[in-house]
Amino acid sequence: MRVAVIGGGIAGLSAAHELLRRGADPVVLEACARAGGKVGTRIEGGYLSEDGPNFLARPLDALLDASELRDDVVTPQPPMTRWIHLDGRVLRAPGLSLLARAGVGRALLEPLFAKPLRDDMPLGDFLERRLGRRAGGLAAAVMSAGVYAGDPAALSARDAFPSLGALAGKGSLIVNAFRRPKGPRSGIWTLRRGLGALADALALALHGRVRLGAAVGRLSPAQGGWSVQGERFDGVVLAVPAAAAADLTHGFAPKFAHAARQLRSAPVTVVHLGLRQGAVPRGFGMIDADGTLHAVGTLLPSSMLPGRAPDGRALVTAICGGARHPERAALPDGELVSAVMADLRATWGVRDTPEYVRVVRWDAAIPQYAPGHRDRVREARKLLAGLPRLELAGAAWDGVGVPDVALSGAAAAARLVP
Ligand SMILES: Cc1cc2nc3c(=O)[nH]c(=O)nc-3n(C[C@H](O)[C@H](O)[C@H](O)COP(=O)(O)OP(=O)(O)OC[C@H]3O[C@@H](n4cnc5c(N)ncnc54)[C@H](O)[C@@H]3O)c2cc1C
Repeated sequence: MRVAVIGGGIAGLSAAHELLRRGADPVVLEACARAGGKVGTRIEGGYLSEDGPNFLARPLDALLDASELRDDVVTPQPPMTRWIHLDGRVLRAPGLSLLARAGVGRALLEPLFAKPLRDDMPLGDFLERRLGRRAGGLAAAVMSAGVYAGDPAALSARDAFPSLGALAGKGSLIVNAFRRPKGPRSGIWTLRRGLGALADALALALHGRVRLGAAVGRLSPAQGGWSVQGERFDGVVLAVPAAAAADLTHGFAPKFAHAARQLRSAPVTVVHLGLRQGAVPRGFGMIDADGTLHAVGTLLPSSMLPGRAPDGRALVTAICGGARHPERAALPDGELVSAVMADLRATWGVRDTPEYVRVVRWDAAIPQYAPGHRDRVREARKLLAGLPRLELAGAAWDGVGVPDVALSGAAAAARLVP
């Protein structure tokens, strides 16, 4: 079966590998000059910086085997100190002053009145009801900033955070978290030469089945299969962001296209800065719970990983903008870098001028799953029934983390070629 995989991000690459494994004949059509989508790495001037993700939170066994990169896996080295910017202060997590400010006493009463979550609701409302305004608000701000650069008032409690949703569905978060069977913790990881190496190796291992600079603008059902830019295929995996999926389908599936357009993403601009090693602390990084800094999250990659900055230098990565403050992601480079430096001065007392600056812009960086996302996706998929073989994959639908999109791509391939 000839399958066009439209979109060569990790979802599309994963789909293509699984299709190949199942005996199909996939071709990946990728608009950009390189495969990987949000996953890419740049090495210059002794700095290694990521276009998007820095760490993955779950194993990716199938893709590590396909890319032969198992030996390149690296895990972050301590100290893994995390700071939270709260009430204008920088507090160590989980330190005592943070716990005191967070209203932990009220949060511990949660098991007394928790009822199983029946209907999905915004994360912020849900956690404030369960843990109290202070602790719940803080937990929601940290979770939504850390994973989605998101807004706790707009993200789904159940569908944006499936493990939280599973606990909440049973009743008390605290009791069920303790009862949960404890498997081995996998921990976060990355690759020695950056996560871009994964995308490059996956594309290479597809042996000429990836067409780069091949933006698809024309897709239509044809003779029991599909016409993709005039070329005949038996099936299609649509592994593009929701807005691109809507553009490609509105001619033959207008209701689906309308549903896809309702799915929102937040813009993010990543600012990488090269500074003197002694100018910044060592640790994991900081999350802005207040929403007053330009960066929702700031990472210290060279503190945790070898080879991220030249000797005596530090790489600082600031994730700016997001759903609460999209306007910050749109600031011109110079203004944004100055604003991030001013924030670093106010929080960590950084006074240096960066010797290295790299800015990466994503207009639609991370999908923002609203309450009811899972049901909306189920309905959207139904709207494609009756068409020739067409499957959706990627961050718009089945989870935004790289491991999620890899699974989503493989699952799309399995539905296409059972
Ligand atoms: C700044 C940032 C930080 C992140 N941090 C993390 C993290 O730490 N850990 C984690 O697990 N995840 C993280 N993520 C999320 C994760 O990287 C993405 O959700 C995931 O990589 C998306 O993969 P995808 O294949 O679904 O989509 P994409 O990577 O968006 O790939 C879609 C591809 O489709 C192509 N395309 C679009 N339209 C067309 C068309 N018409 N024709 C052909 N090709 C087309 C695009 O060029 C793109 O290559 C982060 C994301 C960002 C932006």
